[in-house]
Amino acid sequence: MIAKTGQKSPQAGQYKSRCCGFEITIRQQENLPMCPTCRKEALWKLVKAGKK
Ligand SMILES: [Zn+2]
Repeated sequence: MIAKTGQKSPQAGQYKSRCCGFEITIRQQENLPMCPTCRKEALWKLVKAGKK
């Protein structure tokens, strides 16, 4: 599952940025942030699903 900066996360869990591999934990329906290290929009890939 992949979502990009500005979209709401479809599922809670741990997401990894495509650009540099930075990992974040985010709740469901929370806006996905910019990549904090690249400081630009990122594609976030769900790497570990969290609890609902
Ligand atoms: Zn990055």
